[in-house]
Amino acid sequence: MKKRNDNAENATARRLEPFGETVFATWSRLATEHQAINLGQGFPDFDAPDFVKEAAIKAIRDGENQYSRSAGHPKLVHAIADTFEFEVDPMDDVTVTCGSTETIAAVILGLINPGDEVIVIEPFYDSYLACLSMAGANVKIVTLHAPAFKLDDDELRSAFSDKTKMIIVNSPHNPTGRVFTMEELARIASLAIKHDAIVLSDEVYDKLVLTGSHIPIATLPDMQNRTITLRSLGKVFSVTGWKIGWSVAPPHLTEPIRTAHQFLTFCPATPLQVAAAEAIQAPESYFTQYTQDYRERRDMLVSGLRNVGFNVQSPEGTYFVLADHTPFGFDDDVAFCHHLVEKCKVVGIPPSAFYTKSNEGNGLIRFAFCKGLETLKNAVERLRGLA
Ligand code: GLN
Repeated sequence: MKKRNDNAENATARRLEPFGETVFATWSRLATEHQAINLGQGFPDFDAPDFVKEAAIKAIRDGENQYSRSAGHPKLVHAIADTFEFEVDPMDDVTVTCGSTETIAAVILGLINPGDEVIVIEPFYDSYLACLSMAGANVKIVTLHAPAFKLDDDELRSAFSDKTKMIIVNSPHNPTGRVFTMEELARIASLAIKHDAIVLSDEVYDKLVLTGSHIPIATLPDMQNRTITLRSLGKVFSVTGWKIGWSVAPPHLTEPIRTAHQFLTFCPATPLQVAAAEAIQAPESYFTQYTQDYRERRDMLVSGLRNVGFNVQSPEGTYFVLADHTPFGFDDDVAFCHHLVEKCKVVGIPPSAFYTKSNEGNGLIRFAFCKGLETLKNAVERLRGLA
């Protein structure tokens, strides 16, 4: 008789079979192996501000070292509620998680039954699909088509049905850098209301709107009661490794999220939650400077990529730029990324991992510009080797 471990290569459960290693892990590993400049996975190569690091050290010294309340440390949930553009009850509406990747899992596992229809906009952040697969959801894809990546009205409308349980919206959008307009958000909102769907609004790049302004979809008429808003600490304070994220939702949606969250992680690291509370109360000048610094990084990378020969739309938000690599003669993004790391020692992410319906990702590459100006300048210099 065959023993269970004879088939070790097939040990992955069926619900995760289509998902190998994440594209971020693969390309960060390749960056290390090739000693390349890593413009792949989105994490800063500069350190967090001292006041944030000191707050964490102080919290540890002050004895904030045991589990916190599962839904979030009272200091942090109060501070989070104060940052919102609409009224938020700190104890009933906020759930703090181990980064937004956990929030996504907790929302989907907490709310989605097998067979429920969920609309996902592609290109998408890869964890959406993996979590939807774990929940047994029936996924409907709407594509943002290159080069403008605008939401297509007809495609959106035809994705909705009376079986639609949820739509996942991400603005500012990773990886296209789009910031959805009021018209686009209003169309999503009206269809969600018409079909009585929940909106999961992933706003982790809310402080990285570089052109235009961020509109939280929960602020649209009749939307607050059906919207789960998701934000986090990592991007805005350059602490992606702290893994602190949160959801804000009305109590009837918060309850299932908390039920899942308590069994996924129970709570994130307590001292980091206390430090997060202090960080998000930073003066307005911190956030203004932060955005200004990112505009400079964006402009430097975008003009560098254009000079080298990529077709690039300047991103309105996030710290990513999605460039068209086809002028270099490749019709496959993974092959192009391998060529890039071998020839130029620069890593970007092949975006086909963020598409399932369209093959438009094959002609694109994502670069992250959450890097010092010197790093970006060196990367552009190396990319000249493509010519
Ligand atoms: N959000 C990051 C990115 O898009 C990756 C996060 C992760 O690797 N879990 O690069």
